[in-house]
Amino acid sequence: MIKRIHIVIRGAVQGVGFRPFVFKLATSMGLNGWVLNSSQGVFIEVEGKQEILEEFVLRIGKEKPKVSFIQSLEHKYLDPVGYVEFVIRESDSSGEPTALILPDIATCEDCRNELFEPSNRRYLYPFINCTNCGPRYSIIESLPYDRPKTTMKEFVMCDECNSEYKNPQDRRFHAQPNACPECGPSIELWDNSGSLLYSKAEAIKETVKAIKDGRIVALKGLGGFHIITDAFNNDSVLKLRQRKHREEKPLALMYPDIGAVMKDCEVSSLEERLLLSLQSPIVLLHRKNRHTDYIAESVTPGNPYLGIMLPYTPLHHILMHFLQSPIIATSGNHSEEPICIDEYEALDKLNNIVDLFLVHNRPILRHVDDSIVSVLMDREMILRRARGYAPLPINTNSELDNLVSVGSHLKNTIAISKGKQVFISQHIGDLETVESFNAFKKTISDFKKLYNVNPDRVACDLHPEYISSKFATDFKKPIVRVQHHVAHVLSCMEENQLEEPLLGVSWDGTGYGIDKTIWGGEFLTLKDKTFSRIAHFRKFHLPGGEHSIKEINRIAAGILYEIYGKEIFNDKKILPLKHFSDEELKVIENMLIKKINSPATTSAGRLFDAVASIIDLRQRVNYEAQAAMELEFLTSDSNSNENYDFQITEDNSGANNYIIDWEPMIQEILIDKLNKLSLNLLSIKFHNTLSQIILSVAKIVGEEKVALSGGCFQNRYLLERTVNLLEKENFKPYWHQRVPPNDGGISLGQVIYSSFNYNFK
Ligand code: ZN
Ligand code: ZN
Ligand code: FE
Repeated sequence: MIKRIHIVIRGAVQGVGFRPFVFKLATSMGLNGWVLNSSQGVFIEVEGKQEILEEFVLRIGKEKPKVSFIQSLEHKYLDPVGYVEFVIRESDSSGEPTALILPDIATCEDCRNELFEPSNRRYLYPFINCTNCGPRYSIIESLPYDRPKTTMKEFVMCDECNSEYKNPQDRRFHAQPNACPECGPSIELWDNSGSLLYSKAEAIKETVKAIKDGRIVALKGLGGFHIITDAFNNDSVLKLRQRKHREEKPLALMYPDIGAVMKDCEVSSLEERLLLSLQSPIVLLHRKNRHTDYIAESVTPGNPYLGIMLPYTPLHHILMHFLQSPIIATSGNHSEEPICIDEYEALDKLNNIVDLFLVHNRPILRHVDDSIVSVLMDREMILRRARGYAPLPINTNSELDNLVSVGSHLKNTIAISKGKQVFISQHIGDLETVESFNAFKKTISDFKKLYNVNPDRVACDLHPEYISSKFATDFKKPIVRVQHHVAHVLSCMEENQLEEPLLGVSWDGTGYGIDKTIWGGEFLTLKDKTFSRIAHFRKFHLPGGEHSIKEINRIAAGILYEIYGKEIFNDKKILPLKHFSDEELKVIENMLIKKINSPATTSAGRLFDAVASIIDLRQRVNYEAQAAMELEFLTSDSNSNENYDFQITEDNSGANNYIIDWEPMIQEILIDKLNKLSLNLLSIKFHNTLSQIILSVAKIVGEEKVALSGGCFQNRYLLERTVNLLEKENFKPYWHQRVPPNDGGISLGQVIYSSFNYNFK
């Protein structure tokens, strides 16, 4: 099948023969399309088979002109439009040029070579960088990007550094963070009361020793602190989990090099490219065999994937060079707080978690977490957009109003729009703590200042109680309230450049609906700029509200009550119920019957929780989406095309919409469980049913384009199965690539909604 690929390249790619190079490469590979130089970077589109397009992207990186340097390359797949030749398009100078703030870039090859060359004056210097690599976004105070306006202003360059900086022939010509051991930042190792133990080379040597001894270290990196420890040492990993109160949530790893990663994990060519890219994100990789690698069991309990990144700063490179084995590199924070960026703040907050602090004196201006990506359906899907990606914009096809959007409550990002660009902030996190709310406010004021935007309007979530929605009123500007699931669909539409009409499938855990109930299993049609809720799951109740999100057997009780009424409480043998004490069960029964503190929901995410509880996979979760992830992992060991029954009925309100009834499915699951069907098959049949439901609704609606958005579509099995089913029936399914399907994408959807005056009826 022919695909179109859209590529945006930024960096030193203008005026260096880049366009003729792209022209030659594309035509030699028989690809049609175009290349264009604009104030926003070099844009390329070509069409061909996916394998050829993949190769094209790889070859751009490998064969580009010697003097050029790519500081960011992002690509996504789009529907083909039928190009018949390859052309160099006329430069686009329209729109006011927006100063681009580049993301922080992983250490380049030249700097890596110098770093390990004993005769080089920056041999093992942890802050080596050049025009092509190093910190950017995390150290910029204001524009234009100049040393006095970065956190490097405190370091006065020595004569040698200064002459590099001033020499147009030098790789460090105008490299703002340029530094050397003579004049630049340096590192120190502290104990956990902040006393200096060692500095410079000694500090690294002792850190390596400490890690090998099973100790836990807080490391000040590029966009904040990591907490690191030996990934082979189960005891230290367990100690870290215990001290950080992080029981089961997977921990990210840093491996010394790509060869070591390939020993433990399956790595496709795209995954390899991502691991080694300038963005250097955490890539979710399938383990080869859990029982043959040496990664401690407690790193990702019961999870067939490992989240792995490679060293991306000189400090990481030096450390991993001496360690030569994988470390845990998890964020240096308390859960639900932003990562620490300052060594004294870290000392205060993390001293109960870590034994040592490896710190430096180059200030970090704003927190930038590690990005997380996954390869689904042979394409990159960004799950957390932060280091390496933020704050690069998403380009739109039409002019946008000047807006600020404040995003969602969980996995918050904010966005501003200017010209044809939407700048999405780095991942800020769940706005559950004072610290994260402060980070949220700081990011908004940062963005307004950096991009010089005075917004005409502010977009926020429809939920009146979200702290972000309340904050939106502080702008004293007109507010546009955007329904959560509509924002999801619009973000998916925007990045796939889709035009209406279409069907949006918006499935996640929670979002405030226009009827004031909790939505999350929504089918939305879009026509004449107006969204309608064409179908949704049958409602059920969550006894205890928020409580039920952790204690998922409450959700199961809510669903069973919906089917069987209060009779259900007479039979305590029923699985999810036997995990309650008598008193608990009485309370839950009472809540459900009297509808006290039992909000109604149509959430697909909560349906995953209920099923996990009913089949006794687990009754409590320790982190968001844990049950859904475990259900997904169960699908990998078997194969089946079977699915459960479900019913789609017309809503009797006469509003011409549909209700998807899960009752037949839940009843069959109970029977399968009674008959001791394997959990693997149970899970596959459940997933298959969900895909079948989407296909059935798509057939009723009859729109060719189907946009799949919301956190549920991070689920590999669900996404692949649904896309395949839809394609077989000649629908055109679309999903996320550059922007997360989870709530990290909401800020983009909010901007699009209010800029283009969409409606919701
Ligand atoms: Zn470099
Ligand atoms: Zn120097
Ligand atoms: Fe959501």
